[in-house]
Amino acid sequence: MVLQKHIALVSVHGDPAIDIGKEEAGGQNVYVRQVGEALAAKGWQVDMFTRKANAAQDSVVEHSPNCRTIRLVAGPEEFVPRDQIFKYLPDFVTQLRKFQLNHNIQYPIIHTNYWLSSWVGMELKKVQPVQLVHTYHSLGAVKYNSISDIPAIANTRLEVEKTCLETADCIVATSPQEEEHMRTLVSEKGNIEIIPCGTDIRRFGSVSPSKARLRLGLPKHSLVVMYVGRFDRRKGIETLVRAMSRSIFPGLADIRLIIAGGSTPGNSDGIERDRIEKIVDELGMRDYTLFPGQVDHETLKYYYAAANVCVVPSHYEPFGLVAIEAMASGTPVVASNVGGLKYTVVHEKTGLLCPAKDDAAFAEAIDRILSKPHWRMELGKAARKRVENYFTWHGVANQLDELYLSLLKESSQPVAVVA
Ligand code: UDP
Repeated sequence: MVLQKHIALVSVHGDPAIDIGKEEAGGQNVYVRQVGEALAAKGWQVDMFTRKANAAQDSVVEHSPNCRTIRLVAGPEEFVPRDQIFKYLPDFVTQLRKFQLNHNIQYPIIHTNYWLSSWVGMELKKVQPVQLVHTYHSLGAVKYNSISDIPAIANTRLEVEKTCLETADCIVATSPQEEEHMRTLVSEKGNIEIIPCGTDIRRFGSVSPSKARLRLGLPKHSLVVMYVGRFDRRKGIETLVRAMSRSIFPGLADIRLIIAGGSTPGNSDGIERDRIEKIVDELGMRDYTLFPGQVDHETLKYYYAAANVCVVPSHYEPFGLVAIEAMASGTPVVASNVGGLKYTVVHEKTGLLCPAKDDAAFAEAIDRILSKPHWRMELGKAARKRVENYFTWHGVANQLDELYLSLLKESSQPVAVVA
């Protein structure tokens, strides 16, 4: 007799099986994939549903015996920006129901990711018994406060986010700051649990700085400052570039500024990359600035280990995986004092926090860390410890496992027992 715990993770626009760092693929894709694999290792049968965004993509990708990505056809089989996906969601629901029917599965738990998927989850909940868990990854109410070009879909998104908070069986906030935003900006109703994101502490932190530099062809004694992430204006890459142009080090020492991530010109994130490269040229920083493009996690571990400081200058960040990846690698972080970064980065202990968009404050913080090698080491050690204690995927999966089982128990929907 085997206890079979079936779960569907729904991530309509964030395909857990594709390359991370290009176009809109970022933290959500990593989260879903890592949570899926960690749950599978705990005995869950995990199906991760996403939208097929390219006709050449496989419809099913097996990651491990109990964990697979399933790509459903909903709308054109091409990249569609997330703000334009809503109209294809009814097809996505139909396809997911068909999949359940064809495979004789009815997921007792569905964990949705981002507001688009929450709509899918809520529609399914209308027609089948299911415990609905949701992670926002980004809140419209926060985002629209910080941008001027509000998209046409904004009102729909705000409404869906509010209904989801008030009706889902549980919302997973990834930081106390995210929970506070939900309560103050979305609704006081609804059930929220805080379960952070995690990182792979066996991968990040597994190489020494000297080995990493050798591998990347970086000089042993250079000072290395890095950014990694999507090319999106709200990531604040401009703040980092302007901060580096104010830093005292470019004239004093051999310095390297690495700005990793982004796809090739012509893709949707190319506009921001072109804009950043132009600023780098205008400020005369081309000589010491590197743009390695999209980097996979296996290679990223070398970048984090080689860096003396990792900068996360986002205007807003619900959690911010890059900060904990750098910390796991023993690299101090200089980050904006916003959202989840206030939770992960401990000011003066594992790195430094600065007001978002403040080039001068970022320059000062980066210079402080670069000028004190001994303190840098201490910050890095404390950073690693903090990740080991609070932010591993294993720990996250344990907490999610407990949450799902308690929801199933409350709803008296026992997990299926198969012979
Ligand atoms: N990432 C990557 N390669 C790249 C750029 C980014 O693997 O070239 C990964 C990065 O390591 C992290 C994720 O994308 O795991 C970004 O997550 P984060 O939460 O920092 O930002 P988001 O993309 O969710 O805004």
